[in-house]
Amino acid sequence: MFVTVETAARTAPASVIVAIDGPAGTGKSSTSKAVAAKLGFGYLDTGAQYRAITWWMLANDIDVSDPQAIAVVVDKPVIESGTNPSAPTITVDGTDVSGPIRTQSVTSAVSAVSAVPEVRARITGLQRAIAAAAAPGIVVEGRDIGTTVLPDADLKIFLTASAEVRAARRSGELKGKEASDLVTTQAALAKRDAADSSRKTSPLAKADDAVEVDTTELTLDQVIECVVTLVEEKRNA
Ligand code: C5P
Repeated sequence: MFVTVETAARTAPASVIVAIDGPAGTGKSSTSKAVAAKLGFGYLDTGAQYRAITWWMLANDIDVSDPQAIAVVVDKPVIESGTNPSAPTITVDGTDVSGPIRTQSVTSAVSAVSAVPEVRARITGLQRAIAAAAAPGIVVEGRDIGTTVLPDADLKIFLTASAEVRAARRSGELKGKEASDLVTTQAALAKRDAADSSRKTSPLAKADDAVEVDTTELTLDQVIECVVTLVEEKRNA
């Protein structure tokens, strides 16, 4: 029996790509990981990649306020992401940086580093390669996945929540790790969102064809269920 390329393409369902974008504190990571685990998909935290390159810049005394200094060394660090949703990993030059990338110094510098076009080009390349190799699917979370990185994603979700709820969620996550009160957290999130939304190269934005989910009044389980249902509807369409 001959199997033509066309038949093979019809019988083997292509990998399903789900893009989940939105500002910090909307529950993107928790939602994306849980959705990926439920569906047996991979999971990619693109924020962790931007944090990893920022961590490397700081560790190597690169002036993070100087885009040119960043651009010159952008190809040096080897950044690798493990996409198991139950145990995602991030390494730089083979070293686990999952802890150091969450420190305040990285969080404060990441928006400036990720606004540099050469950084975006490098990290976007890594993201597309990971998505292209994913099977049977992958959930990719970030800021510009639906608009720029994977504009042909099968499903695009844009998560939102009120500023107060986002700050409260983030404050809860940080408890015990970093001293932070609600007002400080809300101000820091607002500053990061403003920087991420106003940068010239691929800013945080909702794709025209993204489904917007306001999570302000929803529990995490409700958001997960909503996204899983949307993926299943797409698959059965
Ligand atoms: O998701 P997380 O808060 O860890 O992202 C950290 C930072 O990485 C964001 O504030 C943003 O500056 C940058 N980022 C980005 N594009 C993405 C994901 C994250 O610019 N796709």
